Amino acid sequence: MELTATLQVFLFALLTAVATGIGAVPFAFVKSLTRRWLGASNALAAGLMLAASFGLLYEGVDYGLARTLAGALIGLVFIVLVRKLLQRDEHPAVFAEMSNMDARKALLIVGVMTMHSFTEGVGVGVSFGGGLGLGLFITLAIAVHNIPEGLAISLVLVPRGVRWTRAALWSVFSSLPQPLMAVPAFLFVETFKPLLPYGLGFASGAMIWMVFSELVPDALEESSGNLVAIIITLSVLAMLAFQVLIR
Ligand SMILES: [Zn+2]
Repeated sequence: MELTATLQVFLFALLTAVATGIGAVPFAFVKSLTRRWLGASNALAAGLMLAASFGLLYEGVDYGLARTLAGALIGLVFIVLVRKLLQRDEHPAVFAEMSNMDARKALLIVGVMTMHSFTEGVGVGVSFGGGLGLGLFITLAIAVHNIPEGLAISLVLVPRGVRWTRAALWSVFSSLPQPLMAVPAFLFVETFKPLLPYGLGFASGAMIWMVFSELVPDALEESSGNLVAIIITLSVLAMLAFQVLIR
């Protein structure tokens, strides 16, 4: 396989990771995002993630319903076990500036979003296997779709005291599996292709759990049920429109 083509796939996939950081940029202009905003921003993050996970499910179903559902069940079991493990761990050291509970939540959302990027990296690599044109199209779609995902991550981190520049770095970090997975997936398309629906299902199973176990209860703690529901409904609709428009 030509080296230049492989390098090309890597660099394009790297761009998708950088795009995720753009989602943190609005917080450069919002000066005082205190805990008061935690309810609204958790609700917004919940809506964005919920719609994103259904987008992944439908994408997986195009490859195969049974494999997508199996993947989603594995993702659900996996994330429940991970949460159990994290609860025993006292100090997730990466978010040292936060309280234990906040740090655990931050770690969960960055972790879940990082896991779901593995599959998208495979998606990018596999699509380049179908030709440069298809590869560029899918890369652009994933890059654009990463922006609200970076926004969702930042919405959880920034009101808990993380600087927007660090939230941008965490967002980019969460997408680094994309360039890393794109290259092997491009080189071994036939091996990776059948695994895609499992990965898409896995990611959405974990993300849906995340929305209802972490983001919605947090939002309800700070804001009324009515306001939370309105924000979630609007952000699901916005994300859906966004996903259809970039297709
Ligand atoms: Zn995604």
